[in-house]
Amino acid sequence: MTENLVKGSVMDMDVRNCKKCGKLFNHAIGPVICPLCKEQLEEKFQEVKKYIRDHPGCGIAEVSDECEVSQQQIKQWLRDERLQFSEDSPVGLNCENCNAMIRSGRFCDKCKLEMTHSLQNMYKSEHKPVEHEKPKDYKDNARMRYLDH
Ligand SMILES: [Zn+2]
Ligand SMILES: [Zn+2]
Repeated sequence: MTENLVKGSVMDMDVRNCKKCGKLFNHAIGPVICPLCKEQLEEKFQEVKKYIRDHPGCGIAEVSDECEVSQQQIKQWLRDERLQFSEDSPVGLNCENCNAMIRSGRFCDKCKLEMTHSLQNMYKSEHKPVEHEKPKDYKDNARMRYLDH
């Protein structure tokens, strides 16, 4: 009962504490951080992006230290496919399906491909083209012609 009441009032107001600075703000959608922290985070993102570009082969720990961003945040950007480390970088996420090393996103190329295929198959089975049947008597006519000769 009490729980429901609390939930209701929070939802009505939709005011949250910023995860970063604790300030109260009107929360609509997305991460629970206030506009100011969001802006700062965006600046951080640009900094991280630049650092990765300037230091090919760097790792998450290094970027985290140099740019003072949590490794968790960097991984979040990778999952969102906003960030991508270079090909030879030791940085890796794990495919959520097969655990293979990936550099960004949630799934490896192989799993992505398999998922696309299964989606396509689903689509195909749902929209099966009507088989263009040959006229029933086609075969019979042919046979008859054959017999005629
Ligand atoms: Zn804040
Ligand atoms: Zn995979």
